[in-house]
Amino acid sequence: MIETGEFDFENRIVSPQVIKEDGDDADYSLRPKTLSEYIGQDKVKENMKIYIEAAKKRGEALDHVLLYGPPGLGKTTLSNIIAHELGVNIRVTSGPAIEKTGDLAALLTGLQPGDVLFIDEIHRLSRAIEEILYPALEDFTIDLMIGNGPAARSIRIDLPKFTLIGATTRSGQLSAPLRDRFGIIQRLELYSAEDLAEIISRSAIILGVAIDRDAACEMASRSRGTPRIANRFLKRVRDYAEVMGDGRITRDIAKIALDRMEVDNLGLDSLDKRMLEMIIKGYNGGPVGLETLASAIGEEAVTLEDVCEPFLMQLGFLARTPRGRCATELAYRHLGIPHEGSDGQTSLI
Ligand code: ADP
Repeated sequence: MIETGEFDFENRIVSPQVIKEDGDDADYSLRPKTLSEYIGQDKVKENMKIYIEAAKKRGEALDHVLLYGPPGLGKTTLSNIIAHELGVNIRVTSGPAIEKTGDLAALLTGLQPGDVLFIDEIHRLSRAIEEILYPALEDFTIDLMIGNGPAARSIRIDLPKFTLIGATTRSGQLSAPLRDRFGIIQRLELYSAEDLAEIISRSAIILGVAIDRDAACEMASRSRGTPRIANRFLKRVRDYAEVMGDGRITRDIAKIALDRMEVDNLGLDSLDKRMLEMIIKGYNGGPVGLETLASAIGEEAVTLEDVCEPFLMQLGFLARTPRGRCATELAYRHLGIPHEGSDGQTSLI
């Protein structure tokens, strides 16, 4: 029997998205402000450094940039850093927040030459808004309709040369014409445990918490490759350290705290486990289609795809095949479920 009891999926402690308990300014103080403070993502950083320097040398606006990758990896942070390194202002908005053409026009006409416009979740822009954006990105003009009915007329407004930075978790959902208008496309990868340990140590200094190196490593290895989760763990474990000890985060305290939060030694929580268990016990290890799987465990397919899958695939626990999702032998082993190998032998691998 696979449990699907009451569970607040949206506010999972290992959610890479901002959750309720993170608070409003959750990320602000911990956000690196310069490229040199931005840990990991070396390839992206090296590329961006060159593009930024070249744009500055030419005295031109940076080409439009598309950043994509799973949530919580630092797309918003990097966009702010890019603006900071360019020495320009940044206006921040998101795809769903731009409802009317007038909203976009107001944003664009408020920009100064060289400024950055950051649109998070850019795949959620409506078609009508996208249409206005194309000439803005290419020719730095917008055509606006003024008035209604027979008196309506179109006026063209020239815009300053600006840089659009679009962020998305789902680059596949971006329309081809929009995607083609980005000169720079960078993919952010899940972070290594070493990078996450460094991020945790840096955040601990900012928060004024003492932390042992092995405690940072313990937390890093459970953070699912995601800085937002690593920082959340740090804040939670700090509470345990204050109540259970003298405030210093030791490995033992980190382990106790994370175990109590039901995050296992690799960072899996009950949703990941339910997903794998459903594939294994409900569908004999797969393949099973994503939609079928999602409805079987009572979760949205997008959540499984965006939140569980990148991490489970990185661990080598899940394989995506044209016929659906399959659990790998490593997943059976991690969950302690006996697996029938290709020779028909059942083994607890
Ligand atoms: P995204 O926009 O991809 O969802 P954010 O930029 O909001 O992610 O990052 C989430 C948090 O993780 C940030 O507030 C920041 O504290 C931390 N963070 C992200 N990337 C890095 C990094 N490379 N180095 C240090 N901290 C980071």
